[in-house]
Amino acid sequence: NKAGTTGWNLKNSYAELPAALFTAVKPTPASEPRLVVLNESLAASLGLNHDELSGEEGAAVLAGNKIPEGALPLAQAYAGHQFGNFTMLGDGRAILLGEQITPDGRRMDIQFKGSGATPYSRRGDGRAALGPMLREYIISEAMHALGIPTTRSLAVVATGDPVYRETVLPGAVLTRVAASHLRVGTFQYAANWGGAEELYALADYALQRHYPDIPLDDGRYLALLRGVIARQAELIAKWMLVGFVHGVMNTDNMTISGETIDYGPCAFLDAFDPKTVFSSIDANGRYAYGNQPYIGVWNLARLAESLLPLLHEDEEQAVKLAEEALGEFTDLYQGHWMAGMRGKLGLFGEEDEDESLVKELLGLMQQHGADYTNTFVALTFGKTGGEALYGDEAFAAWRDRWQGRQSRHRKPEEDSLRLMKASNPAVIPRNHRVEEALDAAVEGDLSVMEDLLRALADPYDHRPEQAEYAIVPEACGPYRTFCG
Ligand code: AMP
Ligand code: MG
Ligand code: MG
Repeated sequence: NKAGTTGWNLKNSYAELPAALFTAVKPTPASEPRLVVLNESLAASLGLNHDELSGEEGAAVLAGNKIPEGALPLAQAYAGHQFGNFTMLGDGRAILLGEQITPDGRRMDIQFKGSGATPYSRRGDGRAALGPMLREYIISEAMHALGIPTTRSLAVVATGDPVYRETVLPGAVLTRVAASHLRVGTFQYAANWGGAEELYALADYALQRHYPDIPLDDGRYLALLRGVIARQAELIAKWMLVGFVHGVMNTDNMTISGETIDYGPCAFLDAFDPKTVFSSIDANGRYAYGNQPYIGVWNLARLAESLLPLLHEDEEQAVKLAEEALGEFTDLYQGHWMAGMRGKLGLFGEEDEDESLVKELLGLMQQHGADYTNTFVALTFGKTGGEALYGDEAFAAWRDRWQGRQSRHRKPEEDSLRLMKASNPAVIPRNHRVEEALDAAVEGDLSVMEDLLRALADPYDHRPEQAEYAIVPEACGPYRTFCG
């Protein structure tokens, strides 16, 4: 077995969980696997040999045609609230190959997305198209470089098989790497279709895998709930700080690990507006930019409900504990968000007025349709000119207030500048840039995507060449995303 030299070191702890939580299923082989993109640094950190992976053998593995030694492929069962409606789901187009034990001892899920139907496919074909898989690759890697916890992308392989959507598209398989694929929806599944056995097994598994510091005493399930609440509060604050709109925050798309998952209709803000929605299917704006913290806590309440029987034998007591834990979200979220905003404005220390200072700026940005990312970069370098926002008297007054606040923290200007540069990305995956890279890649020219990936890999590097990626196109109607 030549895959041995590739460095696969797969374990299958998920397959040891109660059988109701998954179904063993093999990937459907691809007709003509062709490696389109491979993540060299991620491969290395997983202990995988890049040269082996990019050869014919490697592509066969990454297409699902050849199962490496030690793998026990399976599809995970889960449920979820989709746009508020509770549904039975499961991996309909994803197959977990196994858990790679990395050279530094981490256990990472290796999952194929788009590798054929599973028992959970419902009416779907289990397939994925090349464009959307490359889009996930680009945006998840951009998120990682921005310092935001996320699933990552190891590779995209074109399958050579057609995928039937509104048109016929080239098929592809994305290899997704995650701390795990446990979701809020996995617990909802166990609570609704499993019994106590499934629920306890799953909770203990999540504790072991993601919260190893929690002592294994009677309070451990409440500690698990509080742990997930804390990680999601931090994660969603990070999304908000970079202007990320997830787009489909269903409970099955919220992880227990605190990583961002499911790059479907997501996109980054250009003009600042809390009501921004990109997804073509989010007609009511449930998952609008400004709603994300509220949806986060709503989803966490669904997790809390699922965990109730584990929190206390008396239901009333359990509810009380869950409510207290959920009540911590807002302060945690607000703390992370304000800390991030202070960084973006180069402020050290804390003053009571900081929040109103931030909100006033955001209000002015909204009023003038100012670009979220570029406004903070302009403030960083003092290049506030040319835009309607900067000509507004209210902005001049705000700037005086901000500079007054900066002078009071008694830190050298260089320190503020350094903080702002490290907090305000020069490059984000702008929608028109991503589209341009995907169009070229699907036509066979990978160079545009490779250049974009290089720029996105150093988002806080403000070198002059990066400015090219900050250009906002002339208004061309609202940008729309689709669930590839
Ligand atoms: P998402 O909205 O991407 O979170 O997907 C919701 C559910 O639909 C998940 O259980 C997916 O596995 C499933 N799904 C999405 N696309 C397909 C497809 N083409 N075939 C089968 N299942 C799918
Ligand atoms: Mg999903
Ligand atoms: Mg999806």
